[in-house]
Amino acid sequence: MSERIDPWGSTQIKDYEHLFKEFGINKITEEQKKFFDHRLFRRNIVVGHRDLDKLIEALKNKKPCYCMSGIASSGKLHFGHKAILDLHILFKKKGAKLFTGIADIDGFVSRQKISSLEEAQKYAEDNLTHALALGIEPEDIFVQSNMNKRYYSLVFEMSKHVTNAEMKAVYGDIDFGKVSANFLQYADILHPQLFEKPMIGTVPVSFDQDPHVRLTRDLAKRLPYKMIPPGAVYPLHQSGLKEGKKMSSSEPETAIYLSDTPQEAADKLKRAFTGGRDTEQEQRKSGGRPEICKIYEMYRYHMEDEKKLSELYKNCKSGKMLCGECKKICIEFVTKFLEEHQKKFKKMQPIAKKLIYGKS
Ligand code: SF4
Repeated sequence: MSERIDPWGSTQIKDYEHLFKEFGINKITEEQKKFFDHRLFRRNIVVGHRDLDKLIEALKNKKPCYCMSGIASSGKLHFGHKAILDLHILFKKKGAKLFTGIADIDGFVSRQKISSLEEAQKYAEDNLTHALALGIEPEDIFVQSNMNKRYYSLVFEMSKHVTNAEMKAVYGDIDFGKVSANFLQYADILHPQLFEKPMIGTVPVSFDQDPHVRLTRDLAKRLPYKMIPPGAVYPLHQSGLKEGKKMSSSEPETAIYLSDTPQEAADKLKRAFTGGRDTEQEQRKSGGRPEICKIYEMYRYHMEDEKKLSELYKNCKSGKMLCGECKKICIEFVTKFLEEHQKKFKKMQPIAKKLIYGKS
């Protein structure tokens, strides 16, 4: 029986293998990893794709291609979002044109907790400032509420090409707010091909966003613009700091937010679930379990230095290092990042304001 994925849910997907088979997602190959030569590919964090070879072909031949992904303006950004934005920057470095969408209308209409567009725009401003501080450039940004008429006519045009039954089969019973947000998402993904020219694109998304990708690929074929069905790359979610949870924008204990003070981050890391053993003696004897440890996961997702990462792994596995010492290293690593990032954040605030409201 086919599994339905909930793009708005907060539970962690457990059976990724099943998703590959069920929805025809391909596994990342060694050649693809080699081409991108980036920690998120090397460390098997980006694990799946659709049509990535077509994008690589375009990049190799310097043909137009693009990378698009949106940030729903409904909460604070955390380290899991940073990993996705790091992927955007990688695609731009490789030669793809970047379209980073600030989905303020989507955030407002698809989330009950957001009571007004103004509230969504507050998140949009915050999220956009973080994206700029991480290295996304102003020319790569588009803001849904500032798009032109052609974008909105595309949104409405697409609604003619999807039936109610199809929407229900893909998403189940969803409210009209989510339905309208879906059409905005499809337009976000496809408008670069309308505004520029038909070209291969990729959408870096977590597996739970795949329903949007599937329907957008179908729409590309149904619309009268000779669009190329966009591909996608699927990184695994960085899991939450607590056992069995996703990093969530609305559950502070599960995530380190990019706006956390170093003290807040340190307190959360101290309480994080680890792969440590019950006693020091046992850990010295049997070693830790980095494969289930949230502290090690933080290193794996965000530490550039391969040598340092493998040293931490070895020291954990051999029992040479205990969790207390390891957490201290992680706190230093995260503190350094947050301090530098938050300085950049301050500098980017006027630029973000201008992009959202037209004035700083
Ligand atoms: Fe995790 Fe570090 Fe403990 Fe190993 S030593 S289980 S990586 S916290």
